[in-house]
Amino acid sequence: MNMHFDHVTLGQRVLFGSGRAAGNLAAEVARLGAGRVMVIASGSESSLAEEVTSRIDVAVFHDDVAPHVPIAHAEAARAVATQNAVDLLVCIGGGSTTGLAKAVALTTGLPIVAVPTTYAGSEATNVWGLTEDARKTTGVDDRVLPGTVIYDAQLTLSLPVELSVASGLNGMAHCVDSMWAPHTDPINRALAAEGIHALAAGLPAVKSDPRGLAGREQALYGAYLSAVAFASAGSGLHHKICHVLGGAYNLPHAQTHATVLPYVLAFNAPAAPEAERRIAAAFGTGTALAGLDALRETLDAPQALKDFGFDETQIPEAVELILPYVPDSNPRPVTATDLDALLRAAHAGETPSL
Ligand code: NAD
Repeated sequence: MNMHFDHVTLGQRVLFGSGRAAGNLAAEVARLGAGRVMVIASGSESSLAEEVTSRIDVAVFHDDVAPHVPIAHAEAARAVATQNAVDLLVCIGGGSTTGLAKAVALTTGLPIVAVPTTYAGSEATNVWGLTEDARKTTGVDDRVLPGTVIYDAQLTLSLPVELSVASGLNGMAHCVDSMWAPHTDPINRALAAEGIHALAAGLPAVKSDPRGLAGREQALYGAYLSAVAFASAGSGLHHKICHVLGGAYNLPHAQTHATVLPYVLAFNAPAAPEAERRIAAAFGTGTALAGLDALRETLDAPQALKDFGFDETQIPEAVELILPYVPDSNPRPVTATDLDALLRAAHAGETPSL
């Protein structure tokens, strides 16, 4: 069969190096000619932010960050940017912090330099999210894509192992879902496969040696690849399920992704033999599910949605909420009965089976 695809590569500078963030940021601020920098970092990320910004002039620090970017937080941050005549946004932190910078960029058009400190991957996508009246809206806009990403694994050393594992599996979910997402193509599948390989090598090393840089670097590299793949391939079944669950029941982002992933893989794998083969090869295991299961066991990964505030009584409603979002291109048709079974298994933490 002839190969044909339409692929968009997002334009971004990526500066990667442990212990280099402060120097790389100073060089980027100079290169961009920015004179009024707004630094966004939450209270718990402030010591990292001080370290990273030690070599630049900062017009204003902003620490009013909340999960899923509530609209009031977005408007407050936009007002701070305007009042301070800011010409560059620098976000230092996890996906929530990056998300707030994106919300400011969405309406102001200000450029972003992102310095991620988790494995969420928002820094490499042009996707924004905002929450209003307990409803999360997302959209795609190139204005929110950070022009530069600065990765420094030293900044992730303080991320607790449990959160590192959940966040790293969020990255893994970007890779696995990219294999069958609506815009999957040979390029994003290649990035996703390398992402799986890097995360599968890095995360066990983070777990066994949380203060070591080698595993953290691999995990960060894998997280970047996962996000580039996801930004190109779009949201597959897994992301649609997690997006609905997170928004409707306020479940924690990384842990929800980490828990749901094996159930979606078990569901889709029999109908997606090529994706299954690629994922298994990236893990270096006989089957894709065996690879993910073994990794999850090594990592002592999150097991059950009931542990994160999802109640069994919410399953029928969740099924109804998810069904309209199931991508038509999913390799296997998805019925209400299928979703009900998947959510019941994920709720209870049953062993995922094909
Ligand atoms: P988060 O940003 O909420 O961070 C979790 C916690 O870890 C926070 O308390 C934070 O302060 C802390 N933290 C961050 N870095 C740390 C470090 N190095 N050391 C110690 N503590 C640290 O969680 P997240 O999982 O990074 O991001 C989740 C959010 O990102 C969600 O809102 C999700 O929707 C969004 N997201 C968006 C995209 C996108 O493409 N737009 C992609 C992935 C995730």
